[in-house]
Amino acid sequence: MERLLEIKNLSVDVNKKHILKNLNLIVNANEIHVIMGPNGAGKSTLANVILNNPEYTKTTGQILFKNEDITNLKTDEIARKGVFMSFQSPEEIPGISVFNFVKTAKGKISNSTNMFELKQEIEQNMKELNMKKDFVTRDFNVGFSGGEKKKNEMLQMLELKPTLAILDETDSGLDVDAIKTVSKAIKMFKNKGNAVIIITHSTKILEDLKVDFVHVLLDGQIVETSTDVLAQEIDKYGYSKFKEGAKCQKLN
Ligand code: ADP
Ligand code: MG
Repeated sequence: MERLLEIKNLSVDVNKKHILKNLNLIVNANEIHVIMGPNGAGKSTLANVILNNPEYTKTTGQILFKNEDITNLKTDEIARKGVFMSFQSPEEIPGISVFNFVKTAKGKISNSTNMFELKQEIEQNMKELNMKKDFVTRDFNVGFSGGEKKKNEMLQMLELKPTLAILDETDSGLDVDAIKTVSKAIKMFKNKGNAVIIITHSTKILEDLKVDFVHVLLDGQIVETSTDVLAQEIDKYGYSKFKEGAKCQKLN
């Protein structure tokens, strides 16, 4: 079992406010992890610090990727090592088509890209994801609906083929069919050598997707880890149970 990501004792501040507190997480190849938690728990912060977004300050801890310390590498270096993040609110880039964006991004992480093969592969993946043909020629995310933006993120993931894909609420705000498309894309992407971290609010995406671990992130800490049964529990009872648990731990 190859270890891909190891987060040790990670604490993170944003604007001097403590957001993540001594967080630990291990993700091996061939695993799908889900991170759930209420608004403001620190989920997006976690995704951002793995890619070393400079807005966040790590005060303790270490992040390893394939046993290499990536804690202080620049974001593009981490991306080149095979870590991909899909954003909660993807940016619009006027003047750059979806195809050109993929081409450029791919060129940055790999040495040679065969344009003809790339084009064919994109077309094939778009077909599988029920995307309209003109999608690749449109300006990147400009005027895209919420669902189209998320599909675009999935297309990026399928083309860039990272070893670890971190999806920050890729399923939020989507209708049932679009959620199915996102889970289909994850299934198309997933293989024995890679892993996915899905950050989500809703358990809808889990209906179509077999996941290995569900973690509850609360107030900057992972307070519980289990299988997908945990997601069903959260669906029924919310996070209040874990809130009490977290308080008890702190009092001890
Ligand atoms: P989640 O994704 O779980 O909803 P976030 O990681 O986005 O939570 O945010 C966790 C906390 O950190 C929130 O209180 C949020 O206001 C704060 N925070 C996150 N990013 C920033 C930022 N760039 N500037 C200021 N505060 C931030
Ligand atoms: Mg978030």
